[in-house]
Amino acid sequence: MGKHDLSQPATESEAREIAESARETEWAQPSFLRELFLGRFRLDLIHPHPEQDPDDERRATFFLGELAEFLRTRVDSEAIDCDGNIPEDIVEELRRMGAFGIKIPMEYGGLGFSQLTYNRAIELVTSKDGSLTALLSAHQSIGVPQPLKLFGTLEQKRKYLPRLAKGAISAFALTEMNAGSDPANMSTTATPTEDGQAYILNGEKLWCTNGTRAELLVVMARTPDKIVAGKAKRQITAFIVETGWPGVEVVQRCRFMGLKAIENGLMRFKNVRVPRENILWKEGAGLKLALITLNTGRLTLPSSVTGVAKSALEICRNWANERVQWGAPIGKHEAVAEKIARMASTAFAMEAISELCASLVDRGGYDIRLEAAVAKMYNTEAGWHIVDDTVQIRGGRGYETAASLAARGEEPIPVERLMRDYRINLIFEGSSEIMRLFLAREAVDFHLRVAGDLLNPKAGGAAKTKAMLKAGLFYAGWYPRLWIGSGSFSSMHEFGRLATHLRFVERSCRKLARALLYLMVKHGPKLERKQMTLFRYVDIGAELFAISAACVRAQWLNQKGRNGQEAIELADHFCRLARRRVKATFRALFDNEDNRTYRLARQVLDGRHVWMESGIVGLRHAFEEVSHTAAERAEGEPIHQ
Ligand SMILES: Cc1cc2nc3c(=O)[nH]c(=O)nc-3n(C[C@H](O)[C@H](O)[C@H](O)COP(=O)(O)OP(=O)(O)OC[C@H]3O[C@@H](n4cnc5c(N)ncnc54)[C@H](O)[C@@H]3O)c2cc1C
Repeated sequence: MGKHDLSQPATESEAREIAESARETEWAQPSFLRELFLGRFRLDLIHPHPEQDPDDERRATFFLGELAEFLRTRVDSEAIDCDGNIPEDIVEELRRMGAFGIKIPMEYGGLGFSQLTYNRAIELVTSKDGSLTALLSAHQSIGVPQPLKLFGTLEQKRKYLPRLAKGAISAFALTEMNAGSDPANMSTTATPTEDGQAYILNGEKLWCTNGTRAELLVVMARTPDKIVAGKAKRQITAFIVETGWPGVEVVQRCRFMGLKAIENGLMRFKNVRVPRENILWKEGAGLKLALITLNTGRLTLPSSVTGVAKSALEICRNWANERVQWGAPIGKHEAVAEKIARMASTAFAMEAISELCASLVDRGGYDIRLEAAVAKMYNTEAGWHIVDDTVQIRGGRGYETAASLAARGEEPIPVERLMRDYRINLIFEGSSEIMRLFLAREAVDFHLRVAGDLLNPKAGGAAKTKAMLKAGLFYAGWYPRLWIGSGSFSSMHEFGRLATHLRFVERSCRKLARALLYLMVKHGPKLERKQMTLFRYVDIGAELFAISAACVRAQWLNQKGRNGQEAIELADHFCRLARRRVKATFRALFDNEDNRTYRLARQVLDGRHVWMESGIVGLRHAFEEVSHTAAERAEGEPIHQ
C-alpha cells in the first residue's frame, strides 16, 4: 500500500488511466446500440417491445393514482419555489405512500416496483415539481438504495434498506471543488485505522443533493494508493456514511438558478470514523461502483424530462388554440404550428426512449449502459428545445412569473419556473459532453481491441506491424459486409408506413460504421481528441436509436389498440425530422470547419480577441462591486450541525 499523495492534481494521463480502470470492459449481455455502432442492426434486441409484469402494472395503477392525486391536491409548487423549501408534511406524506422505497424490494419494506413504474412515478412528480423529483431521485436513483441493492452485503442490506424504504433520506457524494466531471482529482481521503477496523474520513463534497436533509450518504473517497507493477495507482472506495456520526457537517446549503427547494449542500467530513463493514463492494472499487450506479440511475432523468415535455405540450396546445393574434389563433401561423408538431412528435420519441430503456432493464439479459447514456443525453437536450419553444409560444407570458400572472387574474402557468428548473438536467448525472465522450469511447472500443496499437502513439514498430496484420485480416472480412444489407426486411412489413424509417436505420448504421473506419484512417491516434467529429458520430447513433425506439413503440401501441394510428403519425413525423438531422450530420462528418473552429477558440482563449470585450461593464466586475452585499445576504445560508 502506498501513501496518499494529494499535493499534486492528477495529470491528464493519470485522469485517463483512472477513468479507464473504472470502465466496465466486458459485454456479457447484448446491447442494440453497441451492435448499431458496429454496423449491425439488431432490431430483435428491442422488438417486440418488452411487456410490463402484469402484477407490477396492477399495483402501479393504484400507487401512481394516489401519487397523482396527492401532487394535484396537496403540493403547492409555487410556494415551494418561492420559499425554497419543501414542507415537512409533504415529505411525511411521500414517506407514508412509500415513495422513498419505490424500487426497494418488498422483503426490505419497500414497494418492490419495477424500473418502469419508478420512472413513471418520477415523470408524474416532475410534471408538477422539479424540486420534489430531486428529493426522491437523488435518494433512490443514485443515493444509498441503488448501490446498496447492487453491491451491498446481506448484512448491509438488512441494516439499511428497511430504514431507507421508510424514508430515511439518502444522498450520493462524489463531486468536489476540483473533481467535477473528472473524479481523478478527488481529495477526500479515507485512511485505515491502525487496527484495520475502520477508516478515518476527511474532506469536502460539493453540491450533494439531499445532503442538507440526509441521514445516509454514499461517499466516494481516496483510500491509500496501491502499488501495481512498481507504480502507485490511485484507489477510490465507496462508503455508507451516517450524517449523525461525529465529524459530519453541512457547511453550506447551495442555491441555484432553479430547483429552488433542492436540499443541496457542501458537506464536510472531519475525522469521521467509518467502520470497515460500511465499505460498499470492495476497496478500490468506488469509482466503478459510482459509474455502474449511474448506468441505471441515469434512466430517471429521461423519464423526468418526458414529464416536462408532456406538460409543455399541454400548455402550448391550449395556448396556441386560445391566443388570437393577427386575426387567427397563433397555432394557425405556420411558425408556431411547426413548433407544435415538432414538440408533440419529439415528446412521443422521448417517451419511447425512456420507457423502452426502463422495460429492457426490467426484462433483464440486456446491457443498458449505452442506451442509458443516450437516453440521458438525447432526452434532456430534446426537452430543453421543447422548454425553449414553450417560452417562445407563450410569448411575454412565458417570461413572466406565475405569481405575477396571477396578480392580474391570468392563469398562473409557471413556464418561467419550468425553464429555470430544467436547465440543470443537461449538466448533472453526466453532462452532455461527458455522455458523448463516454459513448464515443465505447463506440470505438471494438476497433481499439482490433487495431489498438495502430492508433497508439506510444506503440513501437513491432507492435504496430503486428496490429496492422491483425487489423488487415479482420477488416478484410468486416468491411465488405458493411456494404451489404442484412436481408432481414421480411419482418418489417408489420411496421407498415414506419418500415421505411427502420430500413433507413439499417442502411445508416452500416454507413456509420464505415465512416468510423475512414475517420480512424484519416485522423489516426489524433481521432481521440477530435471531439467535434466524435460527437457527430455519437449524435448519428443517438438519432438512429431514437428512430428505432419510436417505431417499435408505435408498432407496439398499434398492436395493443392503444392510440395506435395516432402513435404512428407522431412516430412518422419524428422519424422524418430525425432523418434530416442524420443526413446533415453525416455531411458534416467530412465537410466541416472543425480545425478552423478550434484554432479560433484557442486564439480567443489566448486573448487575441479581448478587444471584442470593450464597451461593457462586465458581469465579473459588477460582481466584485456587489460581492460584499452578496456575502452579507448569503450569511444566513451556512448551516452548522
Ligand atoms: C443542482 C446540482 C445538483 C448536483 N447533485 C449532485 C449530487 O447529488 N452528487 C454529486 O456527486 N454531484 C452532484 N452535482 C455535481 C454535478 O454532477 C457536476 O456539476 C457535474 O458532474 C459537472 O461537474 P462540474 O460542474 O464540476 O463541471 P466541470 O467538470 O468543471 O465541467 C465544466 C464544463 O466542461 C465540460 N467538460 C469537462 N470535461 C470535458 C472534456 N473532457 N471534454 C469536453 N467537455 C468537458 C463539461 O461538460 C461542462 O460543460 C450536482 C450539481 C448541481 C449543480
